[in-house]
Amino acid sequence: MHELISYLQTFEKPPFLALPKKLEMVFLRYVEEQKILMPCRFINLEDYFDIIESASVDFLKTHYDMNYYLISRMMNVLPNIPVDTVLPTSKLQTLQTFKKALVSANLITKNDVSLLRDHPIVIAYYPTYDKVLETGQIHYFTPKAIPNKLLDLIISEDEFAQIHTAIEIIYQLLTDQKDINHIKIVNATKEDVWLLHKEAQMYGFSVDDGQNIPLDSHPLAIEVIKSLETMTLEEALIALANKIKTNPMIDTAVNDAFIHIINKHSLEVLENNHDLLRFEIEQATLPPIKKTNIVEIVSINDAFVHPNDHYIVLNYTDSLFPSLKKDDDYLSDDEKTSLNLRTSIEENKLIINDLKARVLALKDVTFLMPEKNKGKEMRRSDLFSEKMLRIHAHKADKKCISGSESYDLLDYAKKTYAFNQFNQLSADYSDLHSTFYQKYRRYDPKFKGISNNTVNQLLKQGFTFSPTNLERFNACHFRFLLDFLLQILKEEPKDSILYGNLAHHILSKAFQSTQSINELKEEYLNKLQVSLSDSMKIHLDLFVNRIETVIDYLKAQEINSTFQDYGFELGLDGKIKNHPNFSMKGKIDRVRILNDNDKTYFSVIDYKTGIKKFNFDQFDQGINIQPIFYLNLLKKNHQTPKFNPFGFFYQGVNLKRLNKTEANDEIKQALKMNGVALNNPRLVTAFSPSITITGMKLTKDGSFGKSDKLVDESTLESMIDYIDILIEKAIDTINKGDFSITPLAGKDDFDDSPACKYCPHSAICFMKNRFILSDDDESEERE
Ligand code: SF4
Repeated sequence: MHELISYLQTFEKPPFLALPKKLEMVFLRYVEEQKILMPCRFINLEDYFDIIESASVDFLKTHYDMNYYLISRMMNVLPNIPVDTVLPTSKLQTLQTFKKALVSANLITKNDVSLLRDHPIVIAYYPTYDKVLETGQIHYFTPKAIPNKLLDLIISEDEFAQIHTAIEIIYQLLTDQKDINHIKIVNATKEDVWLLHKEAQMYGFSVDDGQNIPLDSHPLAIEVIKSLETMTLEEALIALANKIKTNPMIDTAVNDAFIHIINKHSLEVLENNHDLLRFEIEQATLPPIKKTNIVEIVSINDAFVHPNDHYIVLNYTDSLFPSLKKDDDYLSDDEKTSLNLRTSIEENKLIINDLKARVLALKDVTFLMPEKNKGKEMRRSDLFSEKMLRIHAHKADKKCISGSESYDLLDYAKKTYAFNQFNQLSADYSDLHSTFYQKYRRYDPKFKGISNNTVNQLLKQGFTFSPTNLERFNACHFRFLLDFLLQILKEEPKDSILYGNLAHHILSKAFQSTQSINELKEEYLNKLQVSLSDSMKIHLDLFVNRIETVIDYLKAQEINSTFQDYGFELGLDGKIKNHPNFSMKGKIDRVRILNDNDKTYFSVIDYKTGIKKFNFDQFDQGINIQPIFYLNLLKKNHQTPKFNPFGFFYQGVNLKRLNKTEANDEIKQALKMNGVALNNPRLVTAFSPSITITGMKLTKDGSFGKSDKLVDESTLESMIDYIDILIEKAIDTINKGDFSITPLAGKDDFDDSPACKYCPHSAICFMKNRFILSDDDESEERE
């Protein structure tokens, strides 16, 4: 700024100064600090064009039915459209029609540019001013180049190496006591910004790209938009003003942005035109929050103006430095020429000359470029000739940290994973990163299994399959290993388990015993020797009362059943052919049989205090197998022809808050069994005379309607035998030591696996938040 001020002081009377908005404040601060008399008057070059009133937007929308986006693009060029000359293209003629209409509606005020012609204008750091001003006394401010200036260019292997180099340079500057507020990173792409943030964090400082925040991304703005459905804009804004407290600075900025929109169009117009309001909200941004003690990431346009700053310029490649204007404005270059406006080629020339002059006046600037970006070779920018550059190649320092490179690589990959997933940063991460980032391979946290030797050790005592552990195995091999082979987390007894066990105890005796339900309850609690809180006692009493109701209902339903009870809480073991180390066991809640001629039909009833329904898909997956597992055990313990399966059923026994009314017996509905039986009306009615089983209903001709819950004998047999297949597969997998972390898939990609839902091991298996990652994220994960 010092040089610019000295230049301005050379004018006889203070000239007009055109400076980018961002720099005006810097300029004023400098003038104040140095106690200098203001050497100029700021002008905003746009103020000297025709002024188009904001109401024009609504006018064009109403009269020409155009969308707001098109109107906003046209508004930028309308000041340059003459109303009194013949224009060459139909697009320009249309624009002229709009402008004429706006002039007749008094929505355009003509500005007198001749004022500028009598006064010197200094244009500094502002190459793309309007050509119309060239008729005035224009003076360009060009900072003086440092004689024989050589520019450092560091070429890194790829985009990641470039970021690493940039961060290391900054780290060195900070170590050398350079003020962090005077270090600027220029020309970073979006991907670079992300990487810079992450890597700077590891070196203990922060970077900030000071991006404007879109207004419509702020929760308060969203609230205003939503509340317009039920209140007026004025009411919504009053409500907004009352909410400014959580983050006063940013909340006030939201409020200011709304006030700015209202000043532009008036409350009345916006109140009646919510489309326009929404459009303005979409276009508006909140100013970035000014932060100190950070390294600022700035665009090329805002850079190279402070001679004391150290600039680290990324991507010195022909496609990115500088990023030039393309002929893709609302007006083409030909149209601009016909309007005597600057074409993109002319503008680019100005940009390049201005940029060169700015850079050559700087004391400290370092250019960086990657040899490759996203695998593609990069070409160096030709902004500065080769003899003006001092080129260095940057190679990462290849050092082995632990003594074994493969160990270090794995360590690095794991730590990168931990950083990306859990934001955990280890002390040696920067070292690992700088050494190995080029060899980075994504760490896959999946457990790869265990060796045969370890399997043999674990199975030394043999293994017994139960329905629970077999279901767990099929849901997730890894969880099975932790729960049943390593037994690393014993489940704490929960209240729900107490309720369940009590219900099973009562139900196992109530159908045969002369003891009352309450006596059965006391018997169980005495055996358990637990002391209960008062509230727990009350809940248990309620629970037991409901169980009593259940038992009364079940007894009433079975009164005419010709099936007999064969056993309650029936414990059975089973051998597994060819696998002496493995066995099966189970305790069946209730088995009812029917001796029918020379056959004995077996049915299994499994009591459930929660909701459980049989599902064929889950059965195929091996996770809904309990009662069939029991039928399989019964089969193994009763040789045919004695054993004939009839069916298996889940019986709910927890009524919660259900009622019986004359019109509707909710209890009866809730106590319907759920399961599968032979498609034989005689047997089904013998089992449940009033057929209180879901999905089974007799038609008028005495047969059953279509239902997947009724199967023929061979289907039921094959379901029972399928348990052997599941066990065989499990044994094979276990013997191979394959306990990979491949839980059953959820309903869709973003749904947790049903296996993981209540699993206590997610922190070990890294399944937590797994679904926010996809394979495509691999590159993003890399640092
Ligand atoms: S969280 Fe899921 S994947 Fe991990 S052990 Fe549990 S069930 Fe298996």
